[in-house]
Amino acid sequence: MQPLRELLTTFADCFGPPGGEAPVAQLMSQHLQSFCQLRRDGLGSVLAEKMGTQAKPRLLLAAHLDEIGFMVQGITAQGYLRLQALGGWDASLLPGQRLIIQTVTGRREGVVAALPVHFRTENTKPLKMEELLVDIGANSPQEVQALGVGLGDLAVPRAGLGVLNEQCLVNKAWDDRVGVAAMVAVLQHFRDHPHPNTIVAVGTVQEEVGSRGAAAAVELAKPDLAIVLEGPPADDLPGLSPDPPQGALGRGVQIRLYDPTIIVPQNFWRWVVELAQQRQIPHQLAVRRSGATDARAIHVAHGGLPTIVLGAPVRYAHSPASMIHLADVEALVALTVAIIAALDETRWRDLFPS
Ligand SMILES: [Zn+2]
Repeated sequence: MQPLRELLTTFADCFGPPGGEAPVAQLMSQHLQSFCQLRRDGLGSVLAEKMGTQAKPRLLLAAHLDEIGFMVQGITAQGYLRLQALGGWDASLLPGQRLIIQTVTGRREGVVAALPVHFRTENTKPLKMEELLVDIGANSPQEVQALGVGLGDLAVPRAGLGVLNEQCLVNKAWDDRVGVAAMVAVLQHFRDHPHPNTIVAVGTVQEEVGSRGAAAAVELAKPDLAIVLEGPPADDLPGLSPDPPQGALGRGVQIRLYDPTIIVPQNFWRWVVELAQQRQIPHQLAVRRSGATDARAIHVAHGGLPTIVLGAPVRYAHSPASMIHLADVEALVALTVAIIAALDETRWRDLFPS
């Protein structure tokens, strides 16, 4: 198995906003092609199938390839770019950030224009998303064009790995490259160990704009049940509720029982919690009042699919400097492996009698 940290870094550094996930899809395929059967669906999601000692149940693993990003929406007379957000950005985090823009002729850099404190007055208001301008060093629409930048080009923050206190990794895109890397690590484990079922691992596209890729890919995958691997927002932050956090860094894999788009079946999550306890895998339960994952599209497909959501909490989610804890990712991989190893046909029919 590849070192987890290396796998995580390679995936986080990869460029992949919604609608432009091909580099991440390719990276996932490279890691799995030697021992999985690969397919691409019509929207660009990657399906990697691996049959174990039994064909049934078909177990879907899903992690989304896309990260929140931008599309070039307009070009001003002064040669600045306007942005369409792809996914849930907080506009106040963006002024001063550096961006990478993918054009037909290659990658360009930009910086989101910010007003220095020197020029601010008490009347200066925070900018809305549609007011942000990106400076690419051009002074006119002609110069923008000469740089190869045009409407529809995609962009993400320019980032890179930071390691804090040895165990914490800072980068863009942990939502959901932590899930994608964990999914690859799980499959690499089963390259060398038997499993009593068929795994269909799907890297989905366009989750951040409404789980469009998952809705399409699940039709091809035809699973019997599903595990969604995510990088959910950590809530061990200053200024939040004084109640104990449900997604703290370093406290293990988050088992998500509820969010406004899914109620995870009790028999499924209780069995998973029991497994985690037996194997002494650190875990934390979460009942989330907001948010959504690909589970929203998957669990209502095919007459209803038992679906659970596991994650490694991400601090500062949906920002260019998000943070994860390596031990949580290890626990996420360990619990997913334990579930797959234990889910034979008897167990499946036992848990979900038809
Ligand atoms: Zn996500």
